[in-house]
Amino acid sequence: MEELIKVLDPNLTLISTELIGDVIYIDVESTLTEVNCPYCHTASSRVHSRYTREFQDLPIQGKKTIIRLRNRKMFCQNQECTRKTFAESFSFISPKSKKTNRLIEEIIQLSSKMSSVSAEKYLRDHVVRVGKSTICELLKKGR
Ligand SMILES: [Zn+2]
Repeated sequence: MEELIKVLDPNLTLISTELIGDVIYIDVESTLTEVNCPYCHTASSRVHSRYTREFQDLPIQGKKTIIRLRNRKMFCQNQECTRKTFAESFSFISPKSKKTNRLIEEIIQLSSKMSSVSAEKYLRDHVVRVGKSTICELLKKGR
């Protein structure tokens, strides 16, 4: 499981996993001691707070996978910066997204090969909790 998490981001480390019904919950956090401010790009090691960010990832052995990331909020240490704090961000997921980029790719791939009704059913049964409107939206963005 640790290796699967490292594929997503080599700086992530596994805290615990939990299987509830047909869903695997994976708790992870970043091991980086310094995080770059997205506004001024200054590195910071001062943690303001932590919150749990939950999002879906590719299924593991037929189980839907939800990652619970202990996301840090950091103080920006640059006096000149307009932002006092910023949230840690990751390349594998967009800031506000509830799905990893590789999961979105998978949904687009599968949905482009079948009707949205069949895609919704297939995805719900095998891959991810997703609605037809989300599929349509992702297909529009993906093209
Ligand atoms: Zn900054």
